[in-house]
Formats: sequence, C-alpha cells, structure tokens
Amino acid sequence: MSHEGIPMESDTIAAIGTALGEASVGMVRVSGPNAGDIGNRMLRLRKGPKLSARKRGMWYGTVIDPESGDEIDECLALWMPGPNSYTAEDVLEFQVHGGLQLVQGVLRATMAAGARLAEPGEFTKRAFLNGRIDLSQAEAVMDLIRSKTELASRSALQLVKGQFSDKVRRLRKRLIRLQAHVEVTIDYPEHDVESVAAAAVIQTGKELLTEIQELLRRGKMGQVLREGIRTVIAGRPNVGKSSLMNALLRRDRAIVTEIPGTTRDVLEEYANIGGIPFRIADTAGIRETEDIVERLGVERSREALREAEFIVVMLNRNEPLAADDERLLALTTNIPRVIAVNKIDLSMQLDEERLQMLAGNTPIVELSLKGGLGLRELETEMVKQVSSGGVRADDVSYMTNARQNSLLEAVIIDLEGAVEAAQNGATLDVIAVQLQSAYAGLGLVIGEEAGEDLLNEIFSNFCLGK
Ligand code: GDP
Ligand code: ZN
Repeated sequence: MSHEGIPMESDTIAAIGTALGEASVGMVRVSGPNAGDIGNRMLRLRKGPKLSARKRGMWYGTVIDPESGDEIDECLALWMPGPNSYTAEDVLEFQVHGGLQLVQGVLRATMAAGARLAEPGEFTKRAFLNGRIDLSQAEAVMDLIRSKTELASRSALQLVKGQFSDKVRRLRKRLIRLQAHVEVTIDYPEHDVESVAAAAVIQTGKELLTEIQELLRRGKMGQVLREGIRTVIAGRPNVGKSSLMNALLRRDRAIVTEIPGTTRDVLEEYANIGGIPFRIADTAGIRETEDIVERLGVERSREALREAEFIVVMLNRNEPLAADDERLLALTTNIPRVIAVNKIDLSMQLDEERLQMLAGNTPIVELSLKGGLGLRELETEMVKQVSSGGVRADDVSYMTNARQNSLLEAVIIDLEGAVEAAQNGATLDVIAVQLQSAYAGLGLVIGEEAGEDLLNEIFSNFCLGK
C-alpha cells in the first residue's frame, strides 16, 4: 500500500470519545508516543504497575489535574500499548463519570500534560496511516457513527471487519491475473495465442462485471438503509396522517443515539420498521405536505411527492372517495406505496369496489389508529413493498458511499469496454489499457494508491474523537 512509507506521527492527540450529553460514562482518548507519560502524570492508581509497561490492561484510580494536583474524578484507565490498539499507537482511555464539565476537565488535563486536541477523524486517520485499517474500513467507521438504525450499523460493522475490502481485493486479484494474461500475450505474433487471451477477457470480464454490479447494487442498498427511505404520508385533511406518523415513530425507537451533533428531534424522524429505516418527513415537513395536499391542489402535491421513495396513501373509511382521493391515487401509481384505510371503528361509507379498481396491485390495509388496530399489518406491508423494490434488510452486508459508488461505476464502464473491445477483435494493447484502468479504480475503492488530498478530504469528515 502506498501509505506504508508515511512516517508515524510524532505528537500525541486527545479528544472526547463519547457523545456529549447525558451519557452516564464519559471517555477521553489519548493516542501517540507520549500517551503513557501523560497517563502517569494524570493518574493516581490504587495499585499496579505504571502504564509504561508494555502490557495492556485496565486500572482503577483517580484522575488528577497535573498542574494543580487537584482530583478531577474517579477513573477507569484502559491502557493499550501499540501496535495492538485502534491507532497502532500507544492508546490510553480515561473513563469517567459522564457530565460535560467533568469530561472536558479531563480533556483539558491531557492538554496540560502535553497532548494536543485531535482533529476530527484523526484517530481513524492514524489507524489508516499505520496500516491498521484500510480506507473502506475507515469510511465504514464514519458510517457507523452516523448510521441511524441497528440494521444499518450492523452492515457498517461488517464493513469495518473488512468483508467488503476482502471482496474487492479478491476481485482485484482476478483482474490482475487477467491483465497479466493479456500483457504477456501482446508481443506474441501468433494469432491463436491472441484469441485465447481475448476469449479470457470476454469470459472472465463478464464474470467480474456480474460480481461488481452486484457489489454496487448491495452497496447502494446499504446506502438506502443508512439514509432512510424518504416516506410521505399523504391524504386529505383529518384522515389521520399525523396520528399515523406518531404511531410509527412511537413504535420503535431502536435508534443509535450516540451520534454527536444530532438532537433527538432529528433522530425521531426515523421509524425503524422491520429493520428498515423509513425517514418520515419531520413535523415541519409533514405540515408542509399537508398544506400542499390540503390547500394547494394537484400541481403542488405532485412536487412534494416527486421526492418521495415511499408513500402511504391515507383514506377514511367513514367517508366516500373524494375527487382529491382519486387524484392522489392516480398521482402515486409509479411510487412504491401502500393504501391505508383508517377509522374502521366508524361506519362504512367507502366504495370498496371502486377503491380496489383504483388501487390496482397496491395493497390496502385497514386500520383504526384510535382503536390501535391494523398498525402491525400496515408496517408488514410497508416492509414487503420496499423489499420487492430491492431493499432487503437481511441481504445487506455491504454499504458503499457515493465516492465508492462512482468508482465502481467507472470500473464497470472500463470492464464493459474491455469485453466489448475483445468481442470486436480489438488489439490487445487497447484491451490492456482498459483493464489497467479498471484495476486502478478497484484499488481506489479500498484506498490503495489513494492520494493525500483524498485522504484529508475523507478524514476531515469524521467526528471528533474517532
Ligand atoms: P390529519 O389531519 O390527516 O393529520 O389527521 P389527524 O391525525 O390530525 O387526525 C384527525 C382526527 O381524526 C383526530 O381527531 C384523530 O383523533 C382522529 N382519528 C385518527 N385516527 C382515527 C381512527 O382510527 N378512528 C377515529 N374515530 N378517529 C381517528
Ligand atoms: Zn395532521
């Protein structure tokens, strides 16, 4: 890897490693050659050796301000000498009680003891530079920090474990073998040797294409899981849109909350339904949507619905179908959707045959939000509809980001070009150039031969303390 030549960092960095807020435990992480010294200046240990021992371990003691000698808090110190640590450097973690003042006090003490405040993502950057993780793993750490539901964080975890990188590396190995075959054949004058190489390009090239396309598809699926499916609840006034949104959001709050800089309000837009995050327009958004549907007519609702990846069309069972209902149904035929007929606790006024006809293949779920009926069926149907559109909660073990997607797309174009050239009897040196470009592109996906600018770009996006 090209980053092997970069020297180890000489300074020691520190940052708060837990989310600021109500967490019951706060953690300050220190990494670098002076981490042990800093620890020994800041810790009054009950017993046990000093941290400079090359042995990892956990110590209980008191953390003190090295300048005043004042006690800051009780503390668990986790000592991980390099290279067997996250950054491959000496790493010390102070675990203290969670209050913001306290944690900041510990951080200030590490500065007084000689550490410098870490830049965002700097721990992960060091892990990458020291060869502990590759670029896609580093990016997955960032996704993990941001991922909104358990499922999304699970697939981010798998990426961290390197499955995706392993897969790319295997594909790359096959590609380099194919390329070698082509390159060694270029100077052969015999035509049949050339045509054997061309046949290999066609066969192996197609196999690789299938696998890379699958990788891209799954990666994008992972992206959908990370971002959440943009969902709009649409319907006439009073059908129960707000009630439904509240019910969906209340139902499952299995949401990763350790995301710095995000408030609960923002997170609550996500309803985790069957492991799939539905990003339901926030309160302001839904009010806007209502305004549009309620007052501004078809043209404007068309606009609001254009962005939607999933629609719940809501109707009332105790009212006949209105012209607006029919327009809404007609407008949304091409978007994955479910029809929710609410208020089944009230008398039946809906023309069910007409609704069936307008619905076509769209599933219709009856519910009473007031009576607590049908919500589970609606959720099941939402997951089923989304899954049939290609998003499968349990199928996703890869998650790519936009950078990786565009690289993979470029690799696909290169490979398609190579196969096509081989099919058209192009000369081998033309084919070789395209294979080379595909190989380089695959390398960039996992950060091999990545330029310094790219690295800085990526790592500056990280959260502080990671
Ligand atoms: P929105 O205008 O579409 O957002 O509708 P709301 O969610 O604000 O609900 C409108 C009214 O219908 C409220 O008074 C709700 O309490 C009531 N409502 C919602 N669901 C039901 C239901 O299943 N049965 C009955 N009887 N009333 C409901
Ligand atoms: Zn409402």
